[in-house]
Amino acid sequence: MALSKLDNLYRQVILDHSAHPHHHGKLGESTNAIEMNNPTCGDVIELELAIEDGVIKDIAFSGSGCSISTASASMMTDAVVGKTVVEAEALADDFSHLVLGEDVPEAEKLGDAAMLQGVSKFPARIKCATLAWKALGKAIDEEEGHGVAHQFHGAE
Ligand code: ZN
Repeated sequence: MALSKLDNLYRQVILDHSAHPHHHGKLGESTNAIEMNNPTCGDVIELELAIEDGVIKDIAFSGSGCSISTASASMMTDAVVGKTVVEAEALADDFSHLVLGEDVPEAEKLGDAAMLQGVSKFPARIKCATLAWKALGKAIDEEEGHGVAHQFHGAE
């Protein structure tokens, strides 16, 4: 397959995720939540997780962002739902290397998010792509580290 065709395929997947993001909305009940923004682009993400026994049982995001940040958030939620917190942190680490254009063994574990590797060619968009993953790491951290700082329960 020609590289340009491959690029087109990736672009289409990214556009599909941004037009119809997965896990978009609010969780009825969450254990961890955080809001983060990317001032260089204006992307805002509100991320909610329901973590039980160290496993991400459910995840949802809302907010507003450019197509790259929205697609990345959608792909991130697909990649980590059902995973343990430890696995999710490893994936976030892999992703941060991937978008810098570094080789990541087993990048396929990232699912569709692996398609964002091309973002490494556009340094201005890297922060858009990593926002959701940084929010994930931060939200998980609050659980393990500081407890209830950004924690809330209840209906939307
Ligand atoms: Zn952006």
